Amino acid sequence: MDKISEGLKRLQEPGLPNREDLIALLSLEDEKELEPLFLAADALRKESVGNVVHLRGIVEFSNYCERNCLYCGLRQANRQLTRYRMTDREIVDAALAVKAANVATLVLQSGEDSFYDTEKLCRLIEKIKAETGLITTLSIGERPREDYQSFRDAGADRYLLKHETAVPSLYRRFHPDSRRENRLQCLKWLKELNYETGTGCMVGLPGQDNAALAEDILLIKSLDSDMAGIGPFLPHPQTPLAACPSGEVLPVLKMLALVRLACPTINMPATTALTVLHPEGRRKALAAGANVVMPDFTPPVYRRLYDLYPGRTADIEEPSAILKKLEEELNDCGRTLWK
Ligand code: SAM
Ligand code: SF4
Repeated sequence: MDKISEGLKRLQEPGLPNREDLIALLSLEDEKELEPLFLAADALRKESVGNVVHLRGIVEFSNYCERNCLYCGLRQANRQLTRYRMTDREIVDAALAVKAANVATLVLQSGEDSFYDTEKLCRLIEKIKAETGLITTLSIGERPREDYQSFRDAGADRYLLKHETAVPSLYRRFHPDSRRENRLQCLKWLKELNYETGTGCMVGLPGQDNAALAEDILLIKSLDSDMAGIGPFLPHPQTPLAACPSGEVLPVLKMLALVRLACPTINMPATTALTVLHPEGRRKALAAGANVVMPDFTPPVYRRLYDLYPGRTADIEEPSAILKKLEEELNDCGRTLWK
């Protein structure tokens, strides 16, 4: 057996993957050499989570943020961004639109915005659950354990909190006002509170080499994550990383494939950022291990202001048009939509 096949086989054994195997597989650049990796990930995806593609309808309800992550267009120091907060009624209406599209899961996302205190968020979650019954995911950053407990009591089911990068020195560099230890502590609390918990990372951050990406895979595995969002870093012009090069498609696909092999039943979206980077990004991700798509149900007037990175709002399509296109795309590759 050659070295690549040996590494792929070891990766599918129980327990933490071997760091050296991950680095060796991440270092492959040749499409022919990479073929067995993508085929193995696609086969394991089919065997462990099936041909179904799950939909999550995302509503980005506030672009205010009190943090200054170096990569993000929503960072507080970006004074050129017009800020918005959707009203409770607008948020519930957007959730009703998710339900009307037969999408079973809602993702409520925002910057770290303390305007939405625990009380306001709990009332909002209760209202959404009462009016829509949707499975409700929060993606609103780091909060105290008691807040996570209150959101859970109010009906929240899932929580997305990407670890962004597993390497302490990189984490410090990109997060002037948050600590990696706290992020990991939050992820542990969320697990303890029985949330279905998602983490994930960016790929192509300045200074992030294959050894750093291997650490991301090991962390996702050791956290026993239910979901992992893995997409390219895209430089935003109003951030300190404006002049840095974008992440690339191939390393993201390798990461998706390796995470699928290490965590067979994990849910992984084909990220919007990958589709911004490459028009075929979604199809490529779904063929490399991904099994989730997250159509955006934020009203267009706000969606164009949720400006994390350039290009994401260039082509504002109605969710119904996206779903139709998606259905056709999936039919072509033998996958089906789970709404
Ligand atoms: N504020 C919450 C948080 O940070 O967890 C949730 C919203 S945040 C905008 C959602 C995700 O956007 C982050 O986890 C980060 O990975 C991603 N993101 C932000 N800026 C990005 C960029 N320039 N390129 C790619 N992804 C980016
Ligand atoms: Fe705020 Fe999240 Fe952007 Fe960081 S990634 S600046 S916490 S919205």
